[in-house]
Amino acid sequence: MTFPQDASAQTTCPECRGDNLYTRGGHGPDLLPGASGVFASAEMRSVVCRDCGLVRCYASSEALERITPENGWRKTR
Ligand SMILES: [Zn+2]
Repeated sequence: MTFPQDASAQTTCPECRGDNLYTRGGHGPDLLPGASGVFASAEMRSVVCRDCGLVRCYASSEALERITPENGWRKTR
């Protein structure tokens, strides 16, 4: 399991500029319909700021490969 963003590089919150960040991987609700595996929702890596509460989620590289027009995704521009 690899992630495009290196968690160690995510040391500063983009919202409050704090550095009280926590990260973990796991399977949450299916936020990426069409990008999940057959048996489980796509694995996500979450980064949470304990100062302001901002939550960022990063899809795994496996899920990103399934973000295609065939699965109902379109580019925003
Ligand atoms: Zn923050």
